[in-house]
Amino acid sequence: MTTPKPETDRTKKPTVLLVIGMAGSGKTTLMQRLNAHLHAEKKPPYVLNFDPAVANLPYTANIDIRDTVKYKEVMKQYNMGPNGGILTSLNLFTTKFDQVLNLVDKRAPNLDYVLVDTPGQIEVFTWSASGTIITEALAASYPTVVVYVVDTPRSASPATFISNMLYACSIMYKTKLPFILAFNKVDVKPHDFAVEWMTDFEAFQEAARQDTTYMASLTASMSLVLEEFYKTLRVAGLSAISGQGMDGFFQAVDEAVDEYWTEY
Ligand code: GDP
Ligand code: MG
Repeated sequence: MTTPKPETDRTKKPTVLLVIGMAGSGKTTLMQRLNAHLHAEKKPPYVLNFDPAVANLPYTANIDIRDTVKYKEVMKQYNMGPNGGILTSLNLFTTKFDQVLNLVDKRAPNLDYVLVDTPGQIEVFTWSASGTIITEALAASYPTVVVYVVDTPRSASPATFISNMLYACSIMYKTKLPFILAFNKVDVKPHDFAVEWMTDFEAFQEAARQDTTYMASLTASMSLVLEEFYKTLRVAGLSAISGQGMDGFFQAVDEAVDEYWTEY
């Protein structure tokens, strides 16, 4: 993906935080936390929800896909299951994405941040044409940072950790956007093990060796592939529930925005 750099002065451009992650990683809860944090900082963000199937939003969205498409109606109309209904809803919404951008553009001069929530199931956004179109359109207009949310407690074994990192890596290379790994739920499990595994190759190998399944050798080899990926990304540990880690997170965002302006 190529992301043409916006031409105007960077100080007038709000930062888009595109929140992506596996189902249940805490994307929507993090949206709520970021929204509350930015309101407290007197920098109220513009908030977009692109998950057609979320039942209850814990934050108020300025633009909500559910106002445009009802995924249950789409399921009925096209005789689809839930996955097809959700994907088709996102596709229908994307055909009107120029209108969404217009609304954002109008508000942009008075904004510091635009927050974007994505569908619960990660593939709906990352492996669909719509997700690509939305991401490219945002990144062409605004400094856009991918916030990849990791369920830290569920990534605590070498095998689940490496699967999640490979997924994150594939998204980074696909979007080619500045990237933050947000290790969420540190109130349940601190993310220091992850930082150690990402910086100390031997420590990860040792942990992988303890795993006696056939996955162990695959896991160990995969970690070699990821060394380069680890070097280029930013890491923040946080809890969307307790609010810890917000300062470190926004520091990572500032660095990511600098990267957008120097490299994209
Ligand atoms: P999404 O599918 O990625 O949008 O995930 P949700 O935001 O809906 O969260 C999934 C579950 O994880 C919910 O039960 C949340 O309460 C829980 N959750 C989210 N963030 C945290 C966190 O920081 N700590 C803990 N303990 N639970 C969290
Ligand atoms: Mg969600």
